[in-house]
Amino acid sequence: MRPSWVEVDLDAITHNVRLICDEVGAAEVCAVVKADGYGHGDVPVAEAALAGGATRLAVALVEEGVRLRDAAIAGPILVLSQPPNEDAETIVARRLTPTVYTAEFAAAISAIASDPVPVHIKVDTGMHRVGALPDEVPDLVGVVLADPNLELGGLWTHFAVAEDDAEYTKRQLDVFDDVVERLRAKGIVLPMLHTANTAGALLYPEARHDMVRVGLGIYGLRPAPDVAGHLDLRPAMRVVSQVSMTQRLPAGERPSYGRRRPLPAESFVATVPVGYADGISRRLSERGRVLIGDKPRELAGTVTMDQIVVDMGDDAVEVGDEVVVLGAQGGSAITAEDWADLLGTINYEVVCRLGPRLPRRYLRGGDDGR
Ligand SMILES: *Cc1c(COP(=O)(O)O)cnc(C)c1O
Repeated sequence: MRPSWVEVDLDAITHNVRLICDEVGAAEVCAVVKADGYGHGDVPVAEAALAGGATRLAVALVEEGVRLRDAAIAGPILVLSQPPNEDAETIVARRLTPTVYTAEFAAAISAIASDPVPVHIKVDTGMHRVGALPDEVPDLVGVVLADPNLELGGLWTHFAVAEDDAEYTKRQLDVFDDVVERLRAKGIVLPMLHTANTAGALLYPEARHDMVRVGLGIYGLRPAPDVAGHLDLRPAMRVVSQVSMTQRLPAGERPSYGRRRPLPAESFVATVPVGYADGISRRLSERGRVLIGDKPRELAGTVTMDQIVVDMGDDAVEVGDEVVVLGAQGGSAITAEDWADLLGTINYEVVCRLGPRLPRRYLRGGDDGR
């Protein structure tokens, strides 16, 4: 088997969730494990998060919720966007908690349900992606409350810029609070309220309400460098491989496709069996680095589909030596933020894009996962 894998420290996830639970006080923590747990593996992450004190889980897709149910995860699972009407049957059968923003979808759920299904109504307070507009919410709440097959389980919204724009975030909170007040004025008993993602939960205590929906933070990543610097969040993921071949090449040789650049000096060059098919972007070819022997090493040429070449300079290297593509080795580290800066993206995308061809190895209880 190819010696390349994604290592996920489940103890770090449990630790991060514990820290976040302490930080948000009385609010419940809902661990967001969509997109295969942001690339870390949804089921193991969900279990580690529940062990750390999360009381609920959230996913983007019905099929992601089904994967958790198939793994015998029993607690509440919120589906963060309203799915197609045809998914109503699966939602009811697998006891997923749907987000609702249209009366048609509420009716589709009701038509299948035999016991009251809790639904969470999503309000669009300014993200403008999905949700019911504030003025539509009282009617939609009325539809749900009038239907014996539905239960109003939650009312929520989502921030567009919680990590970097306090003014707009507070405006979204005001719009949400205004909807809440209007419902309260009609004598409606309010369900669970929730508005905050990681940045919202850590930066705005007033956004915590009854529950926070935390994704990025449970993986030990920050939505912006300055968010909650006092919290000892630990990145849970490393991408690890082993050197598969070594060469000693003269100055001026140009390794890999395109022969893009010459070696500045006679060098050892290590080949490592990971590539862009694994989510190691080809755009890292110019400035990307990996760790070998506890030091950052520049790539010697283009990232290929299955392999990369690394310029070791004068440092000897052997087949089987550990290569850290993402994460820490000895005293050095290459972070998801380092990649994100090189790629013009965010740490979220870096971890999500690590492909299924890299097996996930889980560390827990201090073992080394092998
Ligand atoms: C993904 C997502 C979250 C989690 O966001 P993080 O920034 O990763 O904490 C919360 N709420 C909704 C609606 C989401 O789509």
